[in-house]
Amino acid sequence: MAEFDLIDLIRARCAVERNDVRLGIGDDAAILAPPPGHDLVVSTDTLVEGVHFPASTSARDLGWKALAVNLSDLAAMGATPAWALLALTLPNADRAFVVDFADGFAELAAHHRVALVGGDTTSGRLSVTVVVHGFVPPDRALRRDGARVGDQVFVTGTIGDAAGGLACLERRQPHLLEIPVEVRDALVMRLERPTPRLAAGAVLRDSATACLDVSDGLLADLGHIAERSGVGIELVADCLPTSSALLAAFDENERLVLQAAGGDDYELAFTAPLDRATAIERDLARIGCGATRIGTVVPGNGVRLLDAGGGEIALARRGWNHFA
Ligand code: ADP
Ligand code: MG
Repeated sequence: MAEFDLIDLIRARCAVERNDVRLGIGDDAAILAPPPGHDLVVSTDTLVEGVHFPASTSARDLGWKALAVNLSDLAAMGATPAWALLALTLPNADRAFVVDFADGFAELAAHHRVALVGGDTTSGRLSVTVVVHGFVPPDRALRRDGARVGDQVFVTGTIGDAAGGLACLERRQPHLLEIPVEVRDALVMRLERPTPRLAAGAVLRDSATACLDVSDGLLADLGHIAERSGVGIELVADCLPTSSALLAAFDENERLVLQAAGGDDYELAFTAPLDRATAIERDLARIGCGATRIGTVVPGNGVRLLDAGGGEIALARRGWNHFA
């Protein structure tokens, strides 16, 4: 199948109409009309086979995930998504693969009304790069540098599930083979079909002081907020929100490593003043997104994980780093 037939396939399957797209796929470049008076928020993320996803990932899940991880970055900024570009590198022109990939991408794109306005198609080792664009009211984007001493630290949803799913797929320990299939599937689903927390990000625009999405591991990612804000963060291990699937599949020690250092959950971690905590929990509950208080912003630097007695827990691994 030729390059242009593949592009036509993708275009046909990802048809979201937006009147701010003056010219979409088919010319040398797209022409887009950002809404007047808004800030444009732009991000890109690449997924490489064997690095960001196992070779067993289905084309459909990969299409979903490639867009999801990018929309998650917009969610973390409090932005409303609008447009995407897709650069696809394929080992061969496999029509069935592209159809399934495009369907997974389109499913999430349709849900958030994201128009695919262009991209690039090349041959090589399987790799997917997506660029996303979104909007926020002027100067209202959520950043990493606004945490203040005394703020509470929160995380949406549950964490550790995606890393638990990966452990199940890799069958790292023998006991993972005995996990009930529905528990395993629930965890693997979190890995392969992450939910970008766009509605939560929009709500938090009014109340959070700093925010990011958890992609590389909770401690590692919160370390970015600590560094950019010039503060320290203390997390209470017992407060980390845990799914029933993770509880069923792993013992306490395994769980803690998955939750503190495992990545790929794409939940939002954020800080906010104590007096806004109740309102935030209420506003997020209203949109069906739980949030849990997991710690406090303190003077100093770095992120420390504490046990119930206030002692620091030392972990062998703190997060994912490509060049470490
Ligand atoms: P050029 O050679 O001028 O860079 P291409 O032949 O690469 O253009 O692409 C033709 C059109 O198809 C462009 O509008 C481009 O944005 C779009 N396109 C190419 N690959 C993809 C893709 N994987 N997804 C979406 N649009 C694509
Ligand atoms: Mg090109």
